[in-house]
Amino acid sequence: MSLDLKSLVRTIPDYPKPGILFRDITTLIEHPEGFKESVERLAEAHRGLGFTHVAGIEARGFIFGAGVAIALGVGFVPVRKRGKLPGTTIGQNYALEYGVDTIEIHADVLSNVHKVLVVDDLIATGGTAIAAVGLIRRTGAICDHAAFAIDLPDLGGADKLRAEKVNVSALMA
Ligand code: AMP
Repeated sequence: MSLDLKSLVRTIPDYPKPGILFRDITTLIEHPEGFKESVERLAEAHRGLGFTHVAGIEARGFIFGAGVAIALGVGFVPVRKRGKLPGTTIGQNYALEYGVDTIEIHADVLSNVHKVLVVDDLIATGGTAIAAVGLIRRTGAICDHAAFAIDLPDLGGADKLRAEKVNVSALMA
């Protein structure tokens, strides 16, 4: 376990709009050892802490989160964009740069006997992850850990999440 994972992430300027440096993890996950090591390191940091589920945030959080759930031997909960889940859902709004978006989980999947690790590919402003933690906590489940492949610390999201009493970890900044 000694790959330079950061060197496997490609940065694409001005995507999806001018001024954004998009961190493209497709180059990391198409590298077999890079993908494996990413998932193993995310899982290793959270072993033995009593998690019952990993909640992955649509869409790239599914890629890492599913692997982490398998590695930890726990279930996987998809946190989806509005309108994608077939059963009864609960949702949480969060602010975008322009407007509002909503994430949802199935209403019957989590309760106060569960402990959930939130996983996404990247934390920037933290809006998405804070909404996911808030949504999961509304079910009564414990949600005080979140793990990311990439943290963009200048955008302050990880600090905001820590202020919500969430333990934040990332493979690279
Ligand atoms: P935020 O809610 O601002 O923390 O944004 C996090 C979400 O937006 C994650 O699901 C990321 O996949 C995506 N995202 C935000 N900024 C970037 C970026 N610079 N490169 C790639 N993905 C990003």
